[in-house]
Amino acid sequence: MTIRHNFYSDTQTRPSRAMLETALEAEVGDEQGGLDPTTAALESRVAELLGMEAAVFLPSGTMCNEIAINVHCQPGDEVICHRHSHIIGYETGGPAAMSGVMVHPLDGANGQFSAAEMAGALRPASRYSPRSRLVSAEQTANLAGGTVWPVAQLEAVAEAARAAGLASHMDGARLLNAAVASVRPAKDHAGTFDSAWIDLTKGLGCAVGAVLAGSREFIQGAWRVKQRIGGGMRQSGVLAAMGLYALDHCVERLADDHKLAAEIASRLAEMPLVAGMCPVETNIIIFDLVEDGPDAEAAAARLLAEGVRVSVFGPRRLRVVTHMDVGPSDAEALIAAFARLTK
Ligand SMILES: *Cc1c(COP(=O)(O)O)cnc(C)c1O
Repeated sequence: MTIRHNFYSDTQTRPSRAMLETALEAEVGDEQGGLDPTTAALESRVAELLGMEAAVFLPSGTMCNEIAINVHCQPGDEVICHRHSHIIGYETGGPAAMSGVMVHPLDGANGQFSAAEMAGALRPASRYSPRSRLVSAEQTANLAGGTVWPVAQLEAVAEAARAAGLASHMDGARLLNAAVASVRPAKDHAGTFDSAWIDLTKGLGCAVGAVLAGSREFIQGAWRVKQRIGGGMRQSGVLAAMGLYALDHCVERLADDHKLAAEIASRLAEMPLVAGMCPVETNIIIFDLVEDGPDAEAAAARLLAEGVRVSVFGPRRLRVVTHMDVGPSDAEALIAAFARLTK
């Protein structure tokens, strides 16, 4: 089946020709030796963007999360995060397998929790308890529908963590969506955290890469783990050049993705087959289907038969994501195909 309208994820974007052309011109060197100038330029650009001292280029966002956990924690420590975090659900048990840590999942509306809720999860200093060591916040909260943590709440969580002797980490896979949606610079969101990263392969449209930022000391630790797990690269400037291109050309336009998502959401919300929807604040629409209609698998299959790809997030739950490779005409196709679904 040819997919003509791909709302599966913002990871599905293809690098544009203009983006690919920057790779041809990139000045390159041996990245492991710190000799790739384009990678170094991307790292300082992202460090500055996130209000951090230093940064390191990595192959993926998952590696950013897993390295950060490894640097911040010792085996037996505990990581406090939302129950629906990527680090719990989608990293193959990495926190346990790679770092020997436990996760302490919190509930909370919109994929978020307050400083008080975090404080309630802190373990007493006792020989019996794991050591509460790290708090992680996901901006935007993917499984909650791309919701945006308010900056004040992020600051409060990071401050409360620091006061209690914990480090703080931000999974910023879609932090730039949050920055654009909230009209607050990314550093306002991330700057109070000890580490944070952005993905280049989601809304920014790159083919490969993510950048993890933090203090100089944290990044030195991150480099040791990166090298250990084979994440050191060579002429990575060809990839970093595309990241720099994306930061120049693909950030502001995230507002278009948000606008399109809001339009799709308001149209879907009126459909009789739609039972409910997560708040739509950025480029993600997560919604539930009514009980007496097709389930999520059946609905997704029928949409796919019409060339429209969406993703299944539960027995009756679908996710639609907007990104640079879908526009208003794709949205029309999605709405029309959805309207043809009947009970
Ligand atoms: C995609 C994603 C990741 C992982 O990023 P990859 O680059 O795919 O490894 C982590 N956290 C969140 C919230 C994500 O959406």
